[in-house]
Amino acid sequence: PYAGPSADEIFAKRREYLSPSIFHFYKTPLNAVEGKRQYLFDEKGRRYLDAFGGIATVSCGHCHPDVVAAIVEQTKRLQHSTVLYLNHAIADFAEALSSKLPGNLKVAFFTNSGTEANELAILIARLYTGSHDIISVRNSYHGNAAGTMGATAQSIWKYNVAQSGVHHAMNADPYRGLFGSDGEKYARDVKEIINFGTTGNVAAFISEAIQGVGGIVELAPGYLPAAYKIVRKSGGLCIADEVQSGFARTGSHFWGFEAQGVVPDIVTMAKGIGNGIPLGAVVTTPEIAKVLTRRSYFNTFGGNPVCTAAGLAVLKVIEKEKLQENAFVVGSYLKDRLNALKDKYELIGDVRGRGMMLGVELVTDRELKTPAQDETFHVMDQMKELGVLIGKGGYYGNVFRITPPLCFTKEDADFLVDAMDYTLSRM
Ligand code: PMP
Repeated sequence: PYAGPSADEIFAKRREYLSPSIFHFYKTPLNAVEGKRQYLFDEKGRRYLDAFGGIATVSCGHCHPDVVAAIVEQTKRLQHSTVLYLNHAIADFAEALSSKLPGNLKVAFFTNSGTEANELAILIARLYTGSHDIISVRNSYHGNAAGTMGATAQSIWKYNVAQSGVHHAMNADPYRGLFGSDGEKYARDVKEIINFGTTGNVAAFISEAIQGVGGIVELAPGYLPAAYKIVRKSGGLCIADEVQSGFARTGSHFWGFEAQGVVPDIVTMAKGIGNGIPLGAVVTTPEIAKVLTRRSYFNTFGGNPVCTAAGLAVLKVIEKEKLQENAFVVGSYLKDRLNALKDKYELIGDVRGRGMMLGVELVTDRELKTPAQDETFHVMDQMKELGVLIGKGGYYGNVFRITPPLCFTKEDADFLVDAMDYTLSRM
């Protein structure tokens, strides 16, 4: 049994001693005491189905025994900086990771977060091309440091950041965008930006395949191939931000970009890569990677033995437990059931996403697509009371983000949808 401080005591401390910018989702915040696979437990031992934690960190499920064992074993043997000496953990993980990527994407730089990975990717692209301009897609999220906050394209995540050389292209959003699902038409805006907003040469185009923070927006089919072609013609590199959509989450593929049939020049990753351990990576080609030998480049803990041991264990678990297949099968089932709810409730304007990266957008008017913010909060809060945790996102805060650990089952999917159905039926 839990013997720690109460939820109220923790909340009081948090208000006094922690950053005032930390937010919480619920009227009564959840005190998460323990996690096991797709479940979280509060201080009273009450179980919650965690259908959001997959994005926060967890790919294999909370405290997966294989990943925990890898972390503990390596911690007992050695935890040190990555840079100074040889250690097999980092080399083994780099090799394994490279085997999961297409083309000549085989050289890894490790970091401690997704922000760091994207900062590094942008730096590499600028060095390699000798150009400065970066194009990112509106509604994207890429991080919260100087460069990545500039690339992030939602005002709600931006402070007083100098956005030199950053341009934001029209979002290929099939639900709210001007051109529906015609990806090639949206890509024309990338060409317009290059022609009329830059010297004609750019350093990089960076994009998620499915926008996570932006509310699970899967870019219109055909967008990435067309955008990549335009960017490469202007000398730029194409960066795929796989921080959320990577590591088998989309089910149909291991990486989100693969659904669009493109091969990026640089891939960035974090979150699910370490099942909760701080780890990020930039993977690129040997030729592009060489630019970082022009000066010294150093990251004390990026790729340290403990984190990379976890990363290797994650790849093995995904394979052993066929988690990609599970993401596809259970994710498709869940999406079908959510679509049936859409037929039942006017409030649901859109159901979208792929595998275990699904979004449900609530609107008060289907024609006008008026964001139903209060309703979104209410349903989330009620579902938590029923024992189901889902996330929220989108610029207007009216999209449920359903991104469970990849071990989520069909029974879990039923429980989630039934809880949502019950909540909606009582509104
Ligand atoms: N890219 C994407 C697509 C993300 O969703 C996030 C985090 N929400 C980041 C980058 C930044 O990752 P981190 O929070 O680990 O810095």
